Amino acid sequence: MTFNARLFCSAVAVLALVSCAKPVTQAPNVSSAELAQERAVHEAAVNASGKGGSTALPADYNRNAYMARLKPMADRISNAAAPYCQSLRTNCRYNFALDKDEAPLNAYADGKNVVISPAMMAFASNDNELALVVAHEMAHNILTHPGKTQQNAMTGMLGGTVLDALLSSQGLNTGGQLGKLGAQQGVLRYSQDFERDADYLGIYIAKTAGYDVSNAPNFWQRMSVNNPQAVYIAQSHPSNPERSVLLRKAIAEIESKQQSGQPLMPALRPKN
Ligand SMILES: [Zn+2]
Repeated sequence: MTFNARLFCSAVAVLALVSCAKPVTQAPNVSSAELAQERAVHEAAVNASGKGGSTALPADYNRNAYMARLKPMADRISNAAAPYCQSLRTNCRYNFALDKDEAPLNAYADGKNVVISPAMMAFASNDNELALVVAHEMAHNILTHPGKTQQNAMTGMLGGTVLDALLSSQGLNTGGQLGKLGAQQGVLRYSQDFERDADYLGIYIAKTAGYDVSNAPNFWQRMSVNNPQAVYIAQSHPSNPERSVLLRKAIAEIESKQQSGQPLMPALRPKN
Protein backbone atom coordinates (compact mmCIF):
# COMPACT_ATOMS: atom_id res chain seq x y z
CA MET A 1 0.00 0.00 0.00
CA THR A 2 1.18 3.52 -0.65
CA PHE A 3 1.61 6.21 1.96
CA ASN A 4 -1.30 8.65 1.78
CA ALA A 5 0.69 11.86 1.30
CA ARG A 6 -2.34 13.99 0.50
CA LEU A 7 -4.06 13.05 3.75
CA PHE A 8 -0.86 13.68 5.70
CA CYS A 9 -0.39 17.15 4.17
CA SER A 10 -4.02 18.10 4.86
CA ALA A 11 -3.59 17.02 8.45
CA VAL A 12 -0.41 19.05 8.90
CA ALA A 13 -2.20 22.09 7.49
CA VAL A 14 -5.04 21.67 10.02
CA LEU A 15 -2.61 21.20 12.91
CA ALA A 16 -0.69 24.30 11.93
CA LEU A 17 -3.86 26.34 12.49
CA VAL A 18 -4.42 24.99 16.00
CA SER A 19 -1.31 25.03 18.16
CA CYS A 20 -0.97 24.31 21.85
CA ALA A 21 -1.58 27.18 24.29
CA LYS A 22 1.48 27.64 26.51
CA PRO A 23 2.19 29.10 29.97
CA VAL A 24 2.86 32.84 30.06
CA THR A 25 4.59 33.67 33.34
CA GLN A 26 8.17 33.30 34.48
CA ALA A 27 7.30 31.44 37.65
CA PRO A 28 10.45 30.61 39.65
CA ASN A 29 12.25 27.41 38.66
CA VAL A 30 12.62 24.64 41.22
CA SER A 31 15.85 22.63 41.00
CA SER A 32 16.00 18.90 41.68
CA ALA A 33 18.13 19.58 44.78
CA GLU A 34 15.57 22.07 46.12
CA LEU A 35 12.79 19.61 45.38
CA ALA A 36 14.57 16.75 47.19
CA GLN A 37 15.20 18.93 50.24
CA GLU A 38 11.58 20.09 50.41
CA ARG A 39 10.27 16.57 49.82
CA ALA A 40 12.12 15.44 52.96
CA VAL A 41 10.38 18.20 54.93
CA HIS A 42 6.95 17.12 53.64
CA GLU A 43 7.74 13.47 54.36
CA ALA A 44 8.69 14.35 57.92
CA ALA A 45 5.42 16.25 58.34
CA VAL A 46 3.45 13.29 56.99
CA ASN A 47 5.28 10.86 59.28
CA ALA A 48 4.80 13.08 62.30
CA SER A 49 1.06 13.34 61.66
CA GLY A 50 0.52 9.57 61.74
CA LYS A 51 -2.08 9.62 58.98
CA GLY A 52 -3.70 12.01 56.54
CA GLY A 53 -5.52 14.91 58.13
CA SER A 54 -9.28 15.14 58.24
CA THR A 55 -11.13 17.06 55.55
CA ALA A 56 -14.53 16.49 57.04
CA LEU A 57 -16.80 19.47 57.30
CA PRO A 58 -17.35 20.75 60.81
CA ALA A 59 -20.63 19.63 62.33
CA ASP A 60 -21.81 23.22 62.51
CA TYR A 61 -21.35 23.83 58.75
CA ASN A 62 -23.67 26.57 57.60
CA ARG A 63 -23.85 27.56 53.93
CA ASN A 64 -24.89 31.17 54.61
CA ALA A 65 -22.06 31.64 57.09
CA TYR A 66 -19.54 30.24 54.60
CA MET A 67 -20.81 32.55 51.86
CA ALA A 68 -20.56 35.46 54.30
CA ARG A 69 -16.88 34.56 54.72
CA LEU A 70 -16.24 34.07 51.00
CA LYS A 71 -18.03 37.19 49.66
CA PRO A 72 -15.80 39.92 51.17
CA MET A 73 -12.72 37.91 50.23
CA ALA A 74 -14.00 37.62 46.65
CA ASP A 75 -14.39 41.41 46.51
CA ARG A 76 -10.89 41.96 47.92
CA ILE A 77 -9.31 39.45 45.55
CA SER A 78 -11.22 40.85 42.54
CA ASN A 79 -10.09 44.40 43.28
CA ALA A 80 -6.48 43.32 43.80
CA ALA A 81 -6.52 41.22 40.63
CA ALA A 82 -7.89 44.01 38.42
CA PRO A 83 -4.49 45.47 37.39
CA TYR A 84 -3.11 42.03 36.50
CA CYS A 85 -6.27 41.04 34.66
CA GLN A 86 -6.67 44.30 32.77
CA SER A 87 -3.05 44.12 31.60
CA LEU A 88 -3.99 40.91 29.78
CA ARG A 89 -7.64 41.25 28.83
CA THR A 90 -10.79 43.36 29.04
CA ASN A 91 -13.48 41.21 30.65
CA CYS A 92 -12.41 40.72 34.25
CA ARG A 93 -15.73 39.99 35.98
CA TYR A 94 -15.96 36.59 37.62
CA ASN A 95 -18.52 34.98 39.86
CA PHE A 96 -17.52 33.36 43.17
CA ALA A 97 -19.50 30.44 44.52
CA LEU A 98 -19.51 27.56 46.96
CA ASP A 99 -19.35 24.13 45.34
CA LYS A 100 -22.71 22.38 45.54
CA ASP A 101 -20.90 19.12 46.30
CA GLU A 102 -20.09 19.47 49.96
CA ALA A 103 -17.71 16.51 50.38
CA PRO A 104 -14.32 16.85 48.65
CA LEU A 105 -11.42 19.18 49.32
CA ASN A 106 -11.53 21.08 46.06
CA ALA A 107 -11.53 24.37 44.23
CA TYR A 108 -11.73 25.11 40.52
CA ALA A 109 -12.10 27.81 37.90
CA ASP A 110 -14.09 27.35 34.68
CA GLY A 111 -13.42 30.63 32.92
CA LYS A 112 -16.48 32.39 34.39
CA ASN A 113 -16.62 31.20 37.99
CA VAL A 114 -14.32 30.60 40.93
CA VAL A 115 -15.80 27.68 42.87
CA ILE A 116 -14.58 26.67 46.35
CA SER A 117 -15.79 23.58 48.17
CA PRO A 118 -16.96 24.08 51.77
CA ALA A 119 -14.45 21.39 52.83
CA MET A 120 -11.64 23.51 51.38
CA MET A 121 -12.91 26.53 53.29
CA ALA A 122 -12.93 24.48 56.48
CA PHE A 123 -9.43 23.12 55.75
CA ALA A 124 -7.96 26.62 55.36
CA SER A 125 -7.03 27.45 58.92
CA ASN A 126 -7.52 31.18 58.39
CA ASP A 127 -8.40 33.74 55.71
CA ASN A 128 -4.73 34.14 54.73
CA GLU A 129 -4.68 30.49 53.66
CA LEU A 130 -8.12 30.62 52.02
CA ALA A 131 -7.03 33.69 50.04
CA LEU A 132 -4.20 31.62 48.51
CA VAL A 133 -6.77 29.18 47.13
CA VAL A 134 -9.22 31.83 45.92
CA ALA A 135 -6.45 33.91 44.29
CA HIS A 136 -4.97 30.79 42.63
CA GLU A 137 -8.33 29.98 41.00
CA MET A 138 -8.81 33.63 40.05
CA ALA A 139 -5.40 33.47 38.35
CA HIS A 140 -6.54 30.44 36.31
CA ASN A 141 -9.45 32.51 34.99
CA ILE A 142 -7.35 35.61 34.33
CA LEU A 143 -4.84 33.52 32.38
CA THR A 144 -7.73 31.81 30.50
CA HIS A 145 -6.44 28.38 31.49
CA PRO A 146 -9.84 26.64 31.17
CA GLY A 147 -10.09 27.73 27.50
CA LYS A 148 -6.42 26.97 26.83
CA THR A 149 -6.79 23.49 28.30
CA GLN A 150 -9.74 22.85 25.96
CA GLN A 151 -7.65 24.14 23.05
CA ASN A 152 -4.78 21.81 23.95
CA ALA A 153 -7.16 18.85 24.20
CA MET A 154 -8.48 19.72 20.74
CA THR A 155 -4.96 19.99 19.33
CA GLY A 156 -3.99 16.64 20.81
CA MET A 157 -7.19 15.03 19.58
CA LEU A 158 -6.59 16.36 16.06
CA GLY A 159 -3.05 14.98 16.05
CA GLY A 160 -4.26 11.58 17.27
CA THR A 161 -7.15 11.54 14.81
CA VAL A 162 -4.74 12.24 11.95
CA LEU A 163 -2.67 9.24 13.03
CA ASP A 164 -5.85 7.14 13.32
CA ALA A 165 -6.74 8.12 9.75
CA LEU A 166 -3.23 7.47 8.46
CA LEU A 167 -3.14 4.02 10.04
CA SER A 168 -6.65 3.34 8.79
CA SER A 169 -5.53 4.23 5.25
CA GLN A 170 -2.86 1.57 5.70
CA GLY A 171 -5.51 -0.96 6.69
CA LEU A 172 -5.02 -0.77 10.47
CA ASN A 173 -8.17 0.14 12.38
CA THR A 174 -7.31 1.89 15.66
CA GLY A 175 -10.94 2.51 16.61
CA GLY A 176 -10.17 6.21 17.20
CA GLN A 177 -8.02 5.39 20.22
CA LEU A 178 -5.15 7.68 19.19
CA GLY A 179 -7.58 10.62 18.97
CA LYS A 180 -8.70 9.99 22.55
CA LEU A 181 -5.11 9.50 23.72
CA GLY A 182 -4.11 12.69 21.92
CA ALA A 183 -6.82 14.66 23.74
CA GLN A 184 -5.57 13.35 27.11
CA GLN A 185 -1.99 14.17 26.24
CA GLY A 186 -3.05 17.61 25.02
CA VAL A 187 -4.64 18.37 28.40
CA LEU A 188 -1.51 17.24 30.25
CA ARG A 189 0.95 18.94 27.87
CA TYR A 190 1.04 22.23 29.80
CA SER A 191 -1.18 21.36 32.74
CA GLN A 192 1.64 21.57 35.32
CA ASP A 193 2.91 24.80 33.80
CA PHE A 194 -0.58 26.30 34.05
CA GLU A 195 -0.62 25.38 37.74
CA ARG A 196 2.77 27.05 38.22
CA ASP A 197 1.41 30.13 36.42
CA ALA A 198 -1.62 30.19 38.72
CA ASP A 199 0.43 29.68 41.90
CA TYR A 200 2.78 32.47 40.85
CA LEU A 201 0.16 35.03 39.75
CA GLY A 202 -2.13 33.93 42.60
CA ILE A 203 0.36 34.78 45.33
CA TYR A 204 0.93 38.22 43.81
CA ILE A 205 -2.83 38.77 43.85
CA ALA A 206 -3.23 37.55 47.46
CA LYS A 207 -0.34 39.76 48.58
CA THR A 208 -1.74 42.79 46.73
CA ALA A 209 -5.12 42.14 48.38
CA GLY A 210 -3.39 42.59 51.74
CA TYR A 211 -3.26 38.99 52.91
CA ASP A 212 -0.28 37.55 54.78
CA VAL A 213 1.10 35.02 52.28
CA SER A 214 4.07 33.92 54.38
CA ASN A 215 2.40 30.62 55.31
CA ALA A 216 1.89 29.54 51.68
CA PRO A 217 4.74 26.95 51.63
CA ASN A 218 3.43 25.46 54.87
CA PHE A 219 -0.12 25.33 53.49
CA TRP A 220 1.09 22.87 50.82
CA GLN A 221 2.87 20.90 53.52
CA ARG A 222 -0.47 20.58 55.31
CA MET A 223 -1.99 19.47 52.01
CA SER A 224 0.66 16.73 51.88
CA VAL A 225 -0.33 15.56 55.34
CA ASN A 226 -3.88 15.42 54.05
CA ASN A 227 -2.91 13.53 50.90
CA PRO A 228 0.58 11.96 51.25
CA GLN A 229 0.59 10.74 47.62
CA ALA A 230 0.90 14.34 46.49
CA VAL A 231 4.39 14.48 48.05
CA TYR A 232 5.58 12.42 45.08
CA ILE A 233 2.96 12.27 42.34
CA ALA A 234 2.99 15.04 39.79
CA GLN A 235 0.68 14.58 36.82
CA SER A 236 -1.87 17.31 36.18
CA HIS A 237 -0.42 19.35 39.07
CA PRO A 238 3.18 19.74 40.28
CA SER A 239 3.94 17.80 43.47
CA ASN A 240 3.17 19.58 46.74
CA PRO A 241 6.87 20.01 47.69
CA GLU A 242 7.51 21.72 44.35
CA ARG A 243 4.62 24.08 44.99
CA SER A 244 6.05 24.93 48.43
CA VAL A 245 9.44 25.81 46.94
CA LEU A 246 7.95 27.82 44.06
CA LEU A 247 5.78 29.82 46.44
CA ARG A 248 8.69 30.45 48.84
CA LYS A 249 10.72 31.81 45.93
CA ALA A 250 7.79 33.91 44.71
CA ILE A 251 7.43 35.40 48.21
CA ALA A 252 11.13 36.30 48.20
CA GLU A 253 10.70 37.90 44.77
CA ILE A 254 7.70 39.94 46.00
CA GLU A 255 9.59 41.11 49.10
CA SER A 256 12.57 42.10 46.97
CA LYS A 257 10.32 44.16 44.69
CA GLN A 258 8.67 45.82 47.67
CA GLN A 259 12.02 46.73 49.20
CA SER A 260 13.29 48.27 45.98
CA GLY A 261 10.01 50.09 45.30
CA GLN A 262 9.17 48.14 42.14
CA PRO A 263 5.53 47.58 41.15
CA LEU A 264 4.16 44.22 42.26
CA MET A 265 3.72 42.66 38.84
CA PRO A 266 4.69 39.04 38.12
CA ALA A 267 7.28 38.47 35.41
CA LEU A 268 5.85 37.36 32.10
CA ARG A 269 7.65 35.34 29.44
CA PRO A 270 8.66 37.33 26.38
CA LYS A 271 6.18 36.80 23.54
CA ASN A 272 7.57 34.85 20.62
ZN1 LIG B 1 -4.92 25.13 39.84
